[in-house]
Amino acid sequence: MQGSKRDTEIKPYRRRRLKRKIAVSYFYLPFAGWSPRRIPLSSRDSLKSARQPRRCPIAMGRIHVLSEHVANKIAAGEVVERPASVVKELIENSLDAGASRIRVDVEAGGRKLILVTDNGCGMVRDDAMLAFERHATSKLKNDDDLLSISTLGFRGEALPSIASVSRVRLETRDAAEPAGTVIEIAGGRILTVEEAGLPAGTSVAIRDLFFNTPARRKFMKAESTELSHIASLVTHYALAHPEMHWELHSATNAVLVAPPVASHSERIYQVFGKETLDELIPLAAQVPLARLGLPEPPPWRREPDYEPPTPGELRLHGFVSKPEVQKLNRSSVFIFVNGRLIRDRVVMHGILEGYRNIIPPTVYPVVLLFLELPCAEVDVNVHPSKTEVRFRQQSVVHDFVRDSIRSTLMAARPAPAFASEIHGAPSARMALTPPLPGSAEEAFAALAGSAAPPSDLNLTGQSVPPRNAALPFAGSFHVEGNAAVGAAPVAPQTFGAMELAPQDAVPETATGCVPPLDGIDDVMDLTQLATLKPLGQIRDSFILAINPQGLWIIDQHAGHERVLFEKILEERSRQKIESQRLLMPIIVELKPAQQAIFAEIAGELRRNGFEAEPFGVRTVAIQSAPAGVDAAEVARLLQELLEQFEREEQALNLEKIRTRIAASIACHAAIKVNMPLDQAKMEWLLGELAKTRCPMSCPHGRPVVLRYSVKDIQKAFKRI
Ligand code: ADP
Ligand code: MG
Repeated sequence: MQGSKRDTEIKPYRRRRLKRKIAVSYFYLPFAGWSPRRIPLSSRDSLKSARQPRRCPIAMGRIHVLSEHVANKIAAGEVVERPASVVKELIENSLDAGASRIRVDVEAGGRKLILVTDNGCGMVRDDAMLAFERHATSKLKNDDDLLSISTLGFRGEALPSIASVSRVRLETRDAAEPAGTVIEIAGGRILTVEEAGLPAGTSVAIRDLFFNTPARRKFMKAESTELSHIASLVTHYALAHPEMHWELHSATNAVLVAPPVASHSERIYQVFGKETLDELIPLAAQVPLARLGLPEPPPWRREPDYEPPTPGELRLHGFVSKPEVQKLNRSSVFIFVNGRLIRDRVVMHGILEGYRNIIPPTVYPVVLLFLELPCAEVDVNVHPSKTEVRFRQQSVVHDFVRDSIRSTLMAARPAPAFASEIHGAPSARMALTPPLPGSAEEAFAALAGSAAPPSDLNLTGQSVPPRNAALPFAGSFHVEGNAAVGAAPVAPQTFGAMELAPQDAVPETATGCVPPLDGIDDVMDLTQLATLKPLGQIRDSFILAINPQGLWIIDQHAGHERVLFEKILEERSRQKIESQRLLMPIIVELKPAQQAIFAEIAGELRRNGFEAEPFGVRTVAIQSAPAGVDAAEVARLLQELLEQFEREEQALNLEKIRTRIAASIACHAAIKVNMPLDQAKMEWLLGELAKTRCPMSCPHGRPVVLRYSVKDIQKAFKRI
């Protein structure tokens, strides 16, 4: 059997120069139509989905120089901007070569040395020399191939570009060849080509980057900055390929060592730890493309044996963060399209739409998404650094991403843990960035050769500061926007002050006075809202409730807002909005800019129960308002809405107008804070909240429910 024969060839991975040995056993997994590849046996399932569209069995090793005609069709531009862009190109080459292990070594943030070693297919001597020619590639032949690129590289420009600005040493051996080849190049000139005994695979060492271009050398940032970009990049490729072994070393420091694991969640756990994994919800969705139509040549250009293309499907898998995880910028959103780390406005917009009315519009979630679609559906030949793509059916991709995220969040209905909120910074520990400073955003900017990101893009995956600003609720006193945050200084410090060393903690069985609390399932979702028994209110603003899963605190205003928001949207779709006639018309004055906005949203306002007529210059008279909104609030509601739309930079669409109006009405009609509620009212509110589709956040994205789980309680009492 081929697999077992090849098994015997597998030796512990060894770099002679580095004298390191890491032994890992692999098995060959023969895929239909694939050349046998080294893959850990345990990753079969995740591989099927993660790998399918790319890294087809290209005849690696048959490099040729592209014709001028084809070369001219390739997005032109420089790719070697900084050390991280070199690492990216080399890693992509190793992935295309089918490697199952990639090790990156850098010195001085990559300025002194970048060494990428793989166990991929390697190159024969002639190819190794040809690889440094401009437009020499084994991944593309003619311009038709450009329409369905399944490899990460295709431009044939990376190695020559890198070689022209550094000193390169390439060591490579095709597994079928008895000996390998060593090539040394400086500033683009080949110095030596030698035969040598080498392990199968390739290693490319880049020394003294930009040694011959002092102007560019000056533009390199501090070593730590460059290293953080490299770390960010390697980490994200490691996340995309859990079935592979990844290592990143900076001089003697191991920055990342990630042996193969069976799934993406295991890789997240391996790289970021349990806390990060706990804050993410797995997502998987797919939709056939059959109904959408595929590009086909016109009938008169079809060969007699022409077969229509198989439509394939759109697949999405990955992780989205729970609503309580909120970031100041998009640096924790990672999008892979067919295994390629990209930034894309369409997918980004789809993600944010998925979170609309679940998190505040000014914050970002943590997202790791892998989108897989047929190669012909996505054009990767858009930008020289290959970090941008163009989808053939942009709106299909956008809506698919949005709907998949939304339904995942709705299905999970995650309840934020009280313990994490009480620390005041809901996601301070949480960042899908390596432990070093730096972010994909900045790395992207660097790789794409664009300017540094704007300064408001925080680069360390920082979290949102505690929302303790007083909210302008009607009432005699002001309540903090997130009361749990207000309590922050007290709770953790109280626990901290007790600081029992683990061995001092009294085991619960030893106390004998309380039976151990076992058999408690630590379910974290909000379907249990219906089972809650309200105990009372804290400051007439927060409902305290219990069930066997723990202690719950419900923000009565935010909860009622969510109930009303969904009710209004539902009634609006059935055109059944209730309206109330005001005793006296309310006159609202509009600024000139607001007049245009008012005209744009007037129709939707009417359909939501407002009746407003122009009343003199720049004023409107409101005769009716949606039921439930106090007359005293009507003018403020309208002003707030107009201000919100005024601040909006993107074009308004009906959906946006509709949800904004519904959110505003809900906010003004909802039970206020500082309002006593009797038992029946509290029960009613929890019951209604349980019926909503998204009970975890109010329409503005603030949390509605916090849960202090039995586990947390036990932990705090040192019972576990
Ligand atoms: P591209 O990746 O766009 O084809 P490159 O300049 O990056 O262009 O590489 C040129 C060629 O060298 C590749 O097409 C590939 O055949 C070969 N090559 C580069 N790196 C490796 C590697 N690590 N293993 C095997 N072959 C490689
Ligand atoms: Mg390449």
